[in-house]
Formats: sequence, C-alpha cells, structure tokens
Amino acid sequence: MLITAGRVLTGAWSEAVVDGAVLIDGATIVAVGPRAEVEAQAPAGTRVLAYPRSTVMPGLIDAHVHLVFDAGPDPVAVLQGRDDDALLGDMRNRAEQLLGSGVTTVRDLGDRNHLAVRLAESIASGAAAGPRVISAGTPVTPPGGHCWFLGGEVSGVEEIRRLVRRNVAAGAKVIKVMETGGGLTKGGPATWESQFSPGELAALVDEAQRAGLPVAAHAHGTDGIAAAVEAGVDTLEHCTWMTSDGFELREDVLARIIAKDIHVCPTVSPHWRMLPKIFGPEPAAAMVGLVRRMAEAGVRLIAGTDAGVQRAGFDGLVSSLAFYEDLGLDNRRIIEMATAAAARALGIADRTGRLGPGYSADLLVVDGDPLTDLGSLSALRAVFAAGVRHEPAGTA
Ligand SMILES: [Zn+2]
Repeated sequence: MLITAGRVLTGAWSEAVVDGAVLIDGATIVAVGPRAEVEAQAPAGTRVLAYPRSTVMPGLIDAHVHLVFDAGPDPVAVLQGRDDDALLGDMRNRAEQLLGSGVTTVRDLGDRNHLAVRLAESIASGAAAGPRVISAGTPVTPPGGHCWFLGGEVSGVEEIRRLVRRNVAAGAKVIKVMETGGGLTKGGPATWESQFSPGELAALVDEAQRAGLPVAAHAHGTDGIAAAVEAGVDTLEHCTWMTSDGFELREDVLARIIAKDIHVCPTVSPHWRMLPKIFGPEPAAAMVGLVRRMAEAGVRLIAGTDAGVQRAGFDGLVSSLAFYEDLGLDNRRIIEMATAAAARALGIADRTGRLGPGYSADLLVVDGDPLTDLGSLSALRAVFAAGVRHEPAGTA
C-alpha cells in the first residue's frame, strides 16, 4: 500500500516532507520520503491512497490509560459490578474508541486479573481492533492501598517480588507500583502519602530489571517521588509534588529526574480546563505551574490522560495535549511527547513513534498541519495500526 499526502511528518526531529509518501508492506513501513522517490520503490499494482490536502504522521501514544475503568462518576463501583468476561468486552470497546481517536499505542497502567494482557494479545494477533497495548498487569500496592481492588495487595519484600514475577509470567511489559495514595481509592492513604519503604521499592525495581521490564511509579507525594527516583524507576506518573499541606517541588529531586533520564507523565485530563472548578483556583494554578517548571527545566515529559478515571474518556488525548499548548510549549515538542518521546519511555522506540523503514505502520492522516495548528490532530481522515486501516468515528 502506498499512501501519498501533501505533507509527511516522519518524526519529531525532522522537517515535514512536502508532497511525500509512505510505502507499507503488511504491518511494516518500507519507505518514507518525497513522493517521486517512494513511488519509484512501489511494486507494480500497489494500492494507492492519496491525501493531497492532508498530513501523514506517526500514530499517537497515550502513555497512561486504564482500560478496566469506565470514565464515569464512579469507575471503581462499576468495575466491581462486572465479571471478567463482561469487563473484557468493555475493554475491547474502549480500545477501539482509542484507536478511532488516533491512538495507535497505549500503556495500560493497571488492570484486573491480567485482562489488559489478554486484550493486548488479541489485538496483536488481529482478533480485535485496537491500539498496541503495553500492559502493566496488576499494579503493586500495600494492603488497603491505592487501587487495592485491582488485586495487587502485597506486604513486604517477598510478596512484592512474587507479584512482580507473576506479572512477568502473565506477559506484562512494564511493572506499575503505587508509591503513594490516590484520589480514586476511598479510605486509602492520602494522595500525598507514601505507601512503600525505600527497601521495598528497591526490591521491586530489582525484580523488574531481572525480567528486563521498566517500572512506572504512581507518585503524587513529594516524598514518594524522591523515593521512586532514588529506587531507579523509569517513569513517574502524575508527579504532582504534593505534601500534607500543599505542594513542594524539590529542586534536588528535579535535577535527579533529569540526570537519571526519567520520563514524567503528568496525566492531564481531557477536561483540564475544569481543574480550577474541581480543585479550587489556587491549587489548580499551583499544579499547572509545577508542570510548567518541569517542562522549562527540561524534564522529558510524555503524554497521558489516565483514561478510565472520572471524566477521562477514551477519546481525549488530543484535548489533553491542548493543555501543553496553553502552557506555551511548541507544537513540535507536544507532538513528540505523544509520539517519539513516549515510544522511548515505553521501550518501543525501535518499533513506533516515528515513520521510517522497518517501523510498524502506525500512522494517522489528518487535515491541516499539526505543526502550525494542534487542533488539526482531531481532523482525522484515517488511522492505520500495524498497517490495518481503521475508520475514525464520525467519518462515515
Ligand atoms: Zn492511573
């Protein structure tokens, strides 16, 4: 298949190719570049899809989703009322919704009974439509801790290591640890409170590294962020720098995050404009200010929505990215956060996140130029995941 377009964005570091093309063989990109050069490599009889007024670019990556949650007002109650078969059906629909919004890869940071791992396998085999799913399996939490209802309650180093090994054996591609509390868990530790000791965190990271898997740490509290950084996690989720009485960004920890090349996923809700209404104007301004400070300091930020939690639907990544535009980041960096940088953080930068020979054919066709107008990311004409074309919702 040959896709031609008015403009091709191959990756975050290169300029747009005007009048470009992408040649695809099955699930893989064979050639990308100026149309005449790529056309010359296409075998006779190759199917051609022409989008002369559109842009072709890498598919988007949402680095933080929960396919098990329904994004309604009480995701935990809904989850607890669904058996695994029903839940897996829900998850399949949510995955399709993500794909229809231009997301060709997600990292699922916490499921129940390894359902996201099963879904990942069925999407990879072509049995279900959806983005590539990098699944954490069961998130690691102490008894009664954040998201205990997902089944990952462990106490002490031995149990932590055992749960990590269980996730590895089930096919997880990342290990998720709930290092601090979280708002979703009623009656659990406060959002800023740490849940694991440095020794426990170190054991978890060690066990994950033995299996060659990265660690993603849910960390709201400043103490928890500092502990996770020292333990050697690969990504920090949320990273809101909360304390018992407000917010405190520690400059020494920030410097360590940058020096250790840790990616931070601030999990911006698609409805981020409601933040002042939800948290109050002052705390909301403080939270936004902390993301700006991280961005300006040069932290490697990646895009994620926490899809599945309250108000975070499975079609919201592009709305979420507008937050960074509001923050003053340029479009190139924002797109990179949702493509190449996210792929790097997920350990799949050799497969997706950019368009090049040998890469998976994960790409979008959008009207307009996302480098000058981020809103054009929602003017989707087509989505291709591993070379399979998916019709975006609402284009029929
Ligand atoms: Zn989450």
